[in-house]
Amino acid sequence: MEENKKIKFIQGPVEEHWVGNGFRVHTIFHPLLEFSTCISPFILMDYAPPKDFPPSDEKKGVGEHPHRGFETVTFVYSGEIDHRDSGGGGGKIGPGDVQWMTAAKGLVHEEFHSKEFTRKGGEVEMVQLWVNLPKKDKMGPHRYQGVKDKEFPRVEINDSSKARLIAGFFEGKKGPCETHTKITIFDMEIEKNKDCSISLEDKTNTLIFVLRGQVSCQNEKANEKDIIVFEKEGHRIDLRAGDKKAKVLVLSGEPIDEPVFSYGPFVMNTKEEILQAIEDYNSGKMGRLKT
Ligand code: MN
Repeated sequence: MEENKKIKFIQGPVEEHWVGNGFRVHTIFHPLLEFSTCISPFILMDYAPPKDFPPSDEKKGVGEHPHRGFETVTFVYSGEIDHRDSGGGGGKIGPGDVQWMTAAKGLVHEEFHSKEFTRKGGEVEMVQLWVNLPKKDKMGPHRYQGVKDKEFPRVEINDSSKARLIAGFFEGKKGPCETHTKITIFDMEIEKNKDCSISLEDKTNTLIFVLRGQVSCQNEKANEKDIIVFEKEGHRIDLRAGDKKAKVLVLSGEPIDEPVFSYGPFVMNTKEEILQAIEDYNSGKMGRLKT
């Protein structure tokens, strides 16, 4: 009998804002919150719920800006995003695709709705997650992983729940995105009024974000845009979907037990390293995008 991971708390978005002119996001968590230490290695999550953009000739998104010390992971659920970075990475990601960008020693990038999508207009829904890197990898090389929807292994948990494995191990399968620390990420659909039980590793920080519908867990309910944060101990999580089919994103990872010092787009271990990052960015050491 596997021991349950107990719920620590359930919480809704902490704020809402525009990222450039292309993404209206709800911030689900960020590094300056009190509970940020119990969700390591995950440091920030922005969710752009489904939003319609009318056809336009104007570029929509966020222009050149830097990152150092971590990875940005972008999950596109609808719409199409074009990405370019000074580390040489780039690509287009559409519905179901995931982009895992390792900023590490520092780069600049831009994220825009693709030209074709902007012209036609349509719905955009996406999640951007920041994953911390341990000290030994913060100044390491860049990496760009663009993974298509069809490359993610599907896991049938039971007759009424299916997962799509993005990173790490789950039910004996391995997700295609490579990580620096031990992380498992998958999204999962549960048919309305059905139950599902998942098993994760002990001593991992685990979060479940509700994208659609409502789920109950240990006599508590989580609604759309809520995050359920679990205790580190235990393996098993039982979920039940409400009156609508539920869709959730499951994040589980081994905590990085190091100090976090963050400032805007930089996440390092100390204040000195942040000051260095600002200086390196200003002097062009993180590169520039060609116009
Ligand atoms: Mn960015």
